[in-house]
Amino acid sequence: MIVKQVSFELGAVRPSQWPRDGLPEFAFIGRSNVGKSSLLNRLLQRKSIARVSQHPGKTQQINFYRINDAFRFADLPGYGYATVSKLQRAAFQRWIKGYIELREPLARVLHLVDIRHEPSKEDVQYHQLLQEVGCPMLVIATKQDKISKSAIQPSIQRIASCLQTGVTIVPVSATNAQNIDSVWSVLDADILSFSSDASD
Ligand code: GDP
Repeated sequence: MIVKQVSFELGAVRPSQWPRDGLPEFAFIGRSNVGKSSLLNRLLQRKSIARVSQHPGKTQQINFYRINDAFRFADLPGYGYATVSKLQRAAFQRWIKGYIELREPLARVLHLVDIRHEPSKEDVQYHQLLQEVGCPMLVIATKQDKISKSAIQPSIQRIASCLQTGVTIVPVSATNAQNIDSVWSVLDADILSFSSDASD
């Protein structure tokens, strides 16, 4: 994908603010600090369109980016803040679930997990939630450059078994752009099938 044009459209705090023009949308979700902003910046070939989180916030806001006037990225807020109460955690999960269930033009959810660690309890919960809703998914194992080449496959297998998932897991580095093309290939195919469905 050649990203010719990208703009930050809005930060939406409620569904009534979600863009309504039906462009295919890709949602990015993951624990705070997993590398989501860095991945977005790398995919969009912009240095800092998505904020790299020096200031972790807990705002329940979805940031929408419009790309080439053809599709959107929806940056969902990071989960897993240690200071959040159990009740807040559950409310946050429901809020995310609401978006995934209600968002009609959602083409795929990209679930990010850190390749270095065993997925957290919350990673597993969110993955289950996504599987329950039944939306197309891709798991991105971030920070691939931080482990040796020989450790990549075992880490992918560990992530698959912890998440109990058959979803494709792509090891990616925002730092050296490893496998960024593979992510785009998946998104490109989705955009194509989305537009051919729309013209049927
Ligand atoms: P977010 O909270 O999920 O948006 O995470 P950020 O994108 O802010 O990244 C968190 C930290 O991980 C920052 O210090 C990034 O520089 C670092 N980071 C993110 N992606 C990568 C990567 O692919 N490789 C390496 N080595 N560091 C990364």
